Amino acid sequence: MQITSDFDGGNIAVLEAKTPGNIRLEIARDNQSDFYQWFYFRLSGAKGQPVVMHMENAGGSAYAEGWQDYRAVAASDGETWERVDTEYDGATLTIRHTPGADAVHYAYFVPYSMRRHADLVARAAASPLVSHRVLGKTLDGRDMDLLSISSGQASAPLNIWFIARQHPGETMAEWWMEGFLDRILDADDPVSRALLGRCNFYIIPNMNPDGSARGHLRTNAAGMNLNREWNAPSMEKSPEVFLTRAAMHETGVDFHMDVHGDEVLPYNFIAGFEGVPGVTDRQLALLNAYTAKLAALSPDFQTLHGYPPDKPGSADMRKCTDYVAENFACLAMTLEMPFKDNADLPEPLAGWSPARCRLLARSCIDALHAIIDDLK
Ligand SMILES: [Zn+2]
Repeated sequence: MQITSDFDGGNIAVLEAKTPGNIRLEIARDNQSDFYQWFYFRLSGAKGQPVVMHMENAGGSAYAEGWQDYRAVAASDGETWERVDTEYDGATLTIRHTPGADAVHYAYFVPYSMRRHADLVARAAASPLVSHRVLGKTLDGRDMDLLSISSGQASAPLNIWFIARQHPGETMAEWWMEGFLDRILDADDPVSRALLGRCNFYIIPNMNPDGSARGHLRTNAAGMNLNREWNAPSMEKSPEVFLTRAAMHETGVDFHMDVHGDEVLPYNFIAGFEGVPGVTDRQLALLNAYTAKLAALSPDFQTLHGYPPDKPGSADMRKCTDYVAENFACLAMTLEMPFKDNADLPEPLAGWSPARCRLLARSCIDALHAIIDDLK
């Protein structure tokens, strides 16, 4: 019996793995950081044996309350992920499973590999509507990929930005991107065609490739939380934000969405920018219009549960959404998806899943279409 996380996105430390009934594990911290919660590893050689795996440091993780009612995902074929029996006692997270094969992967949420990212970028870039630009390099030397999508038909186009996975362990954000890109590049889709007649799109499917490859929850290679870098990014510590911010100032921004996952809340929701100093009634009206429209379009989205809005003047200007709303006087939003499930419409076998991320992205495109006339 062996356990390894020595692969793209892997994360686990093995304390003891001698007997299947008592495997002792720890989740490793993000490099130069105290954050940890993402795990992803392979168990080999335990086919047909009931295994009990304890993550003994779960209680000290970044969002320990997120383990309540949480179930891990497992796949025997590297592709078909299902939820498995998981329990949390306030300190240790315990997974119980009888592997159906001799190589089973376990993870916090369905992983999104760098190989799949490269394929997604290549597939999108093959469209005649897309130009692909490498904005620059990350600290580990990876490319920051920007996809620009334009039909060339729009006069005075609106500039629409979508970015995902500032927090690399929130892999649901890149599954969402897959659904988004597949639909917006569908030459037969009337909503996408109509939007491309009015807008140019700028898409960064993965804001944190180093953290993704390293198996981090929340930070880049230097331990920086990218969603606290927007007021003063640097090429030394946070080139991902420095380069993206510069590209936004080149194009201007009329609409922005930053796609994330939330460890604790079992809902899809949107966080806004209510606390930024320059907030306008127009921006707030657009925020309400967009979220109401999305809730009407998708039973997987709601507006009842979420983060309490910041009080006037109390925004954290290091956050992407607040920075963009303030500096571009536009509608900017943070979309949060659950690690667990949508409690309003649970799906017991898969929980919140890649397929549902993709479908929510499609509804987000419909909601944008519904408010597009109000953006300028
Ligand atoms: Zn996040």
